[in-house]
Amino acid sequence: FNPERVSKLIQKVENSLTHTAQVTDADKLVVGVDLGTAYIVLVVLDHHGEPVATEMQFAQVLKDGLVVDYIGALNIVRQLKEKLETRLQVSLEKAAIAMPSNTPESVCKTHRYVVEGAGMEVVNMLDEPTAANRVLGIRNGAVVDIGGGTTGLSIFKDGEVIYTADEATGGTHLSLVLAGHYKTSFEEAEEQKKDSANHRDVVAIVRPVIEKMGSIVHQHIQGFDVKDIYLVGGTTCLPEFEQIVEKQTGVTTWKPENPFLVTPLGIAISA
Ligand code: ATP
Repeated sequence: FNPERVSKLIQKVENSLTHTAQVTDADKLVVGVDLGTAYIVLVVLDHHGEPVATEMQFAQVLKDGLVVDYIGALNIVRQLKEKLETRLQVSLEKAAIAMPSNTPESVCKTHRYVVEGAGMEVVNMLDEPTAANRVLGIRNGAVVDIGGGTTGLSIFKDGEVIYTADEATGGTHLSLVLAGHYKTSFEEAEEQKKDSANHRDVVAIVRPVIEKMGSIVHQHIQGFDVKDIYLVGGTTCLPEFEQIVEKQTGVTTWKPENPFLVTPLGIAISA
């Protein structure tokens, strides 16, 4: 695990949200589609694996990893694809997708239909922690992906996944707690939570929920020889997240400089 390398890669994805790179081999472009419970993200990589353009949108068309609004999901993926095609002046045809670990076959198929319905061929399907690890590159330890509505955990031994789990907890729960605390709407709480100017206050309020997330991780790694935990997912952007998890688990916990967009990039790398 090389934190600097990961930070540089994520920085490039972030830049590609607003900057569009020149592409030469248009037919070799691949797209990573992350259908999340909070964000739908499409990352385009060129044949060198460099991010050339990224689009994302907040959307609540999935719940607990399941597509609950098929038409909504399809329309958003289609719109994001069209925006990317306009920016890049190419047609995007090949995509990879990822699901939470242990997702039933029928649910995987729905994800696939959404992306195919938006006009792309699905060339690879994998689980989210494995996708995240395409970026992190760890051989041993636990990768914990805390998104909007789900927390995915995978334990790696010698580069192979030996245990996976999924829990229905994530940033949505933190926003609900904040909304209750400040007596505001969920949407306002969500915005407040993401603004780094508020992060210190936010953590003070939601610390018990983060501790609970840490104790869930602790339960799952029992019986495994986990020496390091690696956090990814938008929710872990909050400061002190890694310290709280480390305290709950007693295991050294790492977090890339920006843990958001690690999984979408990993999905694109897998295409
Ligand atoms: P899931 O993995 O559950 O399917 P997802 O893929 O949409 O969901 P991510 O995109 O990794 O999940 O993370 C989304 C969550 O991260 C949301 O709850 C969002 O509020 C939170 N989030 C994103 N950026 C920040 C930030 N800067 N500070 C705090 N929370 C953030």
